[in-house]
Parts: sequence; structure tokens; C-alpha cells
Amino acid sequence: MASARIYLDNNATMPLRPQARRAMIDALDTGGNASSVCEEGRLARQMIEKARRQVARLVNAAPAEVIFSSCGTEANNQVIFSAVTNGTKHILVSAVEHPAVLNVARASGAEVHVLAVDGDGRVQPATLSTALEELDAAKAPSPVLVSIMLANNETGILQPVAELARITHAHGGLFHTDAVQGAGKLALDMPALGVDFLSLSAHKIGGPQGSGALITAPLAKIEPLILGGGQERSRRAGTENLSGIVGFGAAAQVAHEELQDMSRIKGLRDLLEDKIQALDSSITIRGKNVERLDNTSFFATPGIRAETLVIALDLDGIAISAGSACSSGKAGTSYVPVAMGYDETAAASMIRVSFGWQNSHDDVERFIEGYGAAVKRMRGQNSAGSAAQED
Ligand code: PLP
Repeated sequence: MASARIYLDNNATMPLRPQARRAMIDALDTGGNASSVCEEGRLARQMIEKARRQVARLVNAAPAEVIFSSCGTEANNQVIFSAVTNGTKHILVSAVEHPAVLNVARASGAEVHVLAVDGDGRVQPATLSTALEELDAAKAPSPVLVSIMLANNETGILQPVAELARITHAHGGLFHTDAVQGAGKLALDMPALGVDFLSLSAHKIGGPQGSGALITAPLAKIEPLILGGGQERSRRAGTENLSGIVGFGAAAQVAHEELQDMSRIKGLRDLLEDKIQALDSSITIRGKNVERLDNTSFFATPGIRAETLVIALDLDGIAISAGSACSSGKAGTSYVPVAMGYDETAAASMIRVSFGWQNSHDDVERFIEGYGAAVKRMRGQNSAGSAAQED
């Protein structure tokens, strides 16, 4: 029998938590429409409102400020297009945002200002201040929108969001953070972060794919992206995805209750990094000296292209990502390490190993075994290849 696969690609999607699965099955069996007055409808409504409280608790927000959506991408779209509808002409984003912000900002019709990041992938507060001062001097006619992620999906590196939000507000702007990767991995407090809008995605915390939420600060003005009926207090029309919302709520509750499990996960990640560096002391783990997610490791294996390594490990039953993985499944060099100052060759060698609730010590051992063997094989092939060329 083939040995079980090892899944270390949790920033791409985290396996469904058993509690979320059970809650979803219950919801699927309920079958009511939350807008109906009949008993089935009232039951569906109760389930949705419970999920709203569970998701709100994950980020310490008021349940009334949770707008359920079809995914994190939709939540980002809603903030950006809402700002433009309300007159925003300038959107400031970091160079390492997910395409679910970058491409939306570019398509929004507003002028997009891409803020440079430092060698660790962080937006320095002074960079944002300078950009906002320039816009102030140019007398930008309406509040600008600043959208900077909480944690990067490839590197796990955190942005100084509270400080960036404070600077934005001092200039009269609105601040959105894409917290899709941070939620469930960090203790989050939306009022303490001081952001106006925050996006979440269920499948990054062990909930189902195709379910997300936008959370607004009290009194923040938000326009609907999807028009129609009055669902979600007229901020997102369409019959609610009952099982998706309920699964999101259950996953949010468990992720919140088990935040202390992140220290176990950090232990696994740190062990993996120690073992990698024991195999090859020339490997530098990126972001090790700055704040980053406890579940993510991002590094390059010198001389080995990430896509080749990812395929070799996949054939050996180990799932990870190249930093360059993108939604189309096409290989290519990611813009994230390039924005951090790495050349194309280094950027094309970056891999991401990301842990989730289901991983164990054995997974680290299996990864190191598979990684060590794959690198040895590839190095052997490379030197055989160059010897043949010399002949
Ligand atoms: N933002 C970040 C940082 C992400 O990592 C992702 C998913 O990869 C998204 C947004 C998109 O979320 P969803 O898959 O729910 O649309």
C-alpha cells in the first residue's frame, strides 16, 4: 500500500476541519431558505446568525459587521469597488499584495500606487507616509483607499498593519487589510488593528472553499458588489450559501479556540527549518528575523528550480508550493520575492512549506527525507549533465 500523502500546502488551502464538515452536513440536511418565515427558514437563519457570531469572534468584531461572501477575493472586490463608487480616485497597495487585491485595484478605474517593500517584504511606515503626503500635496479630491495585507501568502511575513492604518487615518484615508492568511493563525482584534475593512476566507482556516467574509468597522460605509435582494442587510444580495457559511463559522470557532495550537505548529515549522539548515547550511530561511506566520517557511534551495522540486516531492507524496504557484497553475517567477529584491534566479528557486492543524512531527520527518533525497538526486543529475556537456 502506498504510504499516505503529506500535505504541507496549507496556505493554498487547509483541509476541512472535522467540526466544519459535521456542521456543513447538518446545514445541507436542513434545506431551508434563511429568508423564509417557515420553520425550515427560521432554522437556516439561526444557523447563519450563529456562524456570524463565530466569525466575528475570530477577529473581535461585532456580528452585525460581518458580510458573508463567496470567497476572500469577493470581499476584496467589494471594498475596492465600493470605495471607487464612493468617489475614491487613488488606491495604494503594497507590491506584494495577492492578485485578489492587485488585479482588482488595477481594474477598478482608480489610479493605483504600488508601495515598495523592504528586503523582508514589509511596507515601511515612512513609505506610506511619503506617498500620502504627495497625494495630499496634489489635493486628491476624495479619501484614498489603502489596501495592505496582514500576512503574505507566500512568505508568511506580517505587515505593520496597525501603524499603517493609523497613518492612513491621519491623512483622512480608508484602510483595508486582506487578512485571509493571518486569520486563524494569529490572535486578531479588529478594533485594535484600527482598520476600516478586513477580508477573510473560510478555506484558509479549515473551512470550506467558496465561502468568505468582509468585516467592516462600525459606521464604515460599504456598497454592495452584488445587487438583488436584501440579504446581508442589503450589502450582499443572493440566497446565502448556508452550508458554506455554517462550515466557515464552525472552522472559525475551532481556529479561535485552538489558537494556542499555533505554538505546536510553530514547533513543527522551526524543527523543519533547523533540519533543512542542517542538510545545507547555505540555505537562508526568509523572514526569520521579522514577524511572520508561525506555520509558514519560505526558502530557496541554491541551484534548484522550485517547480522541479515541487514536482519531485509531489511524485514522492509530499505536497508543497513553489513561491511562484499561481491560480492558473502555470509556473513562472513570483513577483513577491522580486519585489523583495531577489534576482529572477533566486526568486524562481523559492519554495513555501506551510503547516496546518492536521500536521504532525512525522510529517516533518517525511518531508526532510523526501526533500533530502530529491535535492541529492537533482544535484547528481545537474553535475552529470554539466560533465556530459564538457565532454
Ligand atoms: N488573499 C490572500 C492573501 C490569499 O492568500 C488568497 C488565497 O490564496 C486570497 C486572498 C483569495 O481568497 P479566496 O481563495 O477565498 O478567494
